[in-house]
Amino acid sequence: MVPVDGVRPRDLVDTYNAARSGGRRHHALDVMARRGTPVISADDGVVRRISTNALGGRTVYVVDPQQRFVHYYAHLDRYARGLREGQRVRKGDQLGTVGSTGNADRDAPHLHYQLLRYANARMWWAGDPVNPVPYLVLRGNKR
Ligand SMILES: [Zn+2]
Repeated sequence: MVPVDGVRPRDLVDTYNAARSGGRRHHALDVMARRGTPVISADDGVVRRISTNALGGRTVYVVDPQQRFVHYYAHLDRYARGLREGQRVRKGDQLGTVGSTGNADRDAPHLHYQLLRYANARMWWAGDPVNPVPYLVLRGNKR
């Protein structure tokens, strides 16, 4: 499911291969939306980490139940009330709201969403990124 409430698959602009500083590629998807729009879980999973960092701002990592994929949600304005590490979430459950925390442009709030392969138990966050766009087949719809 598209991880922003009300956004349709055909609204997405594929920014996966966009250039970033230092010759890097984006390897993620930016979903532009108004500040405060619900950010929702793209799939069923478990909240693995809630943390703040300089680039991503307020972030959440969700791992799917089969531990095949890691979903990374960044630049959140706020976290969903009561969100905690270890919590099970279902597709469409709210994780937070769209914002511009971290290095995002204040005037262009968006969700930075990255899909990664689950690497291993020790380095679970460090797997290879995958372009999520072909998998986002349902309109974002908050449960
Ligand atoms: Zn981004």
